[in-house]
Amino acid sequence: MTIFEEMTTLALSTGAINLGQGFPDEDGPVEIKEAAQAAIAAGANQYAPGKGILPLREAIAVHQQRFYGLAPDPETEIIVTTGATEAIAASLLALVGPGDEVLTFEPFYDSYGAIIGLAGATHVTAPLLAPDFMPDPAALEAAFSARTKVVLINNPHNPTGAVFPREVLQRVVELAEKHDAVIITDEVYEHLTFGARHIPVATLPGAAERTLTISSAGKTFSFTGWKIGWLSGPEHLVAAARTVKQFLSYSSGTPFQTAIAVGLGLPDEFYTGIADTLRYKRDILSEGLRAAGLDVLTPQGTYFVNVDTSPLGITDSVELARRLPALVGVAAIPVPVFCHADGAERTRSLLRFAFCKQLHVLEEAAERLATLR
Ligand code: PMP
Ligand code: GLN
Repeated sequence: MTIFEEMTTLALSTGAINLGQGFPDEDGPVEIKEAAQAAIAAGANQYAPGKGILPLREAIAVHQQRFYGLAPDPETEIIVTTGATEAIAASLLALVGPGDEVLTFEPFYDSYGAIIGLAGATHVTAPLLAPDFMPDPAALEAAFSARTKVVLINNPHNPTGAVFPREVLQRVVELAEKHDAVIITDEVYEHLTFGARHIPVATLPGAAERTLTISSAGKTFSFTGWKIGWLSGPEHLVAAARTVKQFLSYSSGTPFQTAIAVGLGLPDEFYTGIADTLRYKRDILSEGLRAAGLDVLTPQGTYFVNVDTSPLGITDSVELARRLPALVGVAAIPVPVFCHADGAERTRSLLRFAFCKQLHVLEEAAERLATLR
């Protein structure tokens, strides 16, 4: 069982407010739901083409042009996947094997470690250090080697909430060029930033020809259960991932693809609205966490906020996460589960809370957490 399932199960059995697994407790825009219902009613219920329906691939291309000035070819440079999870799996399984190294930051999203393991490759990490969770330049450089085949980055970053500035991303690109590594960049939280601007790696000089970009409708449109994601980049890299995708899922949910194509075309106000709402929610929960005596490490993006529990004299966040639902009625995720042994030691007192919940839920959680003091 993944840590997300474990904590969700614990929250359900104790009746705790679930700020563990990151999923919104409200549906996304009604016009997207109606588009899915209309597609089902109109009979879009059989296999979609393996690479995704053309209107969605076109909508992804238009979205990338509109927000970032990128122009991927919908025919050859984009595929639709069953969530970002499948895009991560298909691209890693296509590109790496035994003897290859994949470099990620640490903490890292749990599926990265699992898929690197399935591919038989070696997982090397460069630490992100609290409080701002930026990589140390020397440690980043030292983590590259002649065997680095892929550098897999995640920006905005789960679980830390870091949004990497241009200098950090440009350094990753330079090091990838120097070691002839492919960059896979997981940008599922691309629209969930609070002031810091999201810079897609693929827009940086020297990056486009070696970069696969991953995103997901789950995060932007609050339909995590639909599992529609996508992958874009140069034709040879996309084709390699597509070859693997054929045998993972073959194709992805047909009516949901039609609906997400509608979502990608929503006006700018939708996109600024989701970020503004989440920023407000971040601040409400952060205030509650501070009032509970916890040290809040303010995120610039994603819908996660981390706290350091050591001011309360608690140094084992894994143990605290297991006890917290019964103790105060709130569930969270311990950050060490996103790490190897050394990183787990460094993040021992960090706990991650999701704030993609309704305001009254966050207010209630804050009240419950206040009893921790
Ligand atoms: N990457 C990151 C960094 C995530 O946080 C998540 C979901 N929580 C995913 C990938 C998976 O996305 P999806 O649900 O679209 O498979
Ligand atoms: N990405 C979500 C999180 O970090 C969880 C998704 C999952 O359960 N795999 O909370």
